[in-house]
Amino acid sequence: MDIGTLLLILAIATLTAAFILQPLFARRKPQRDELIAHWVEELGREHTEAESGAICPQCGQSVHAGDRFCASCGTRLKED
Ligand SMILES: [Zn+2]
Repeated sequence: MDIGTLLLILAIATLTAAFILQPLFARRKPQRDELIAHWVEELGREHTEAESGAICPQCGQSVHAGDRFCASCGTRLKED
């Protein structure tokens, strides 16, 4: 077996592997896009919640309505 044959086998093996793995990657892509869409949705929801919430008097970070402590600096927001 000479180097030419070896390279040919290697090339065929690479192409075969790429061909086999291709649907695997193609199937994964929509899942990743769904995940990103989910993140964007979550971020949008958090943003909406923050907007409807309050602002921490200590650090100025937006806090969720009903939160007793600031998630950013830990300042008590409600005295009760
Ligand atoms: Zn704060």
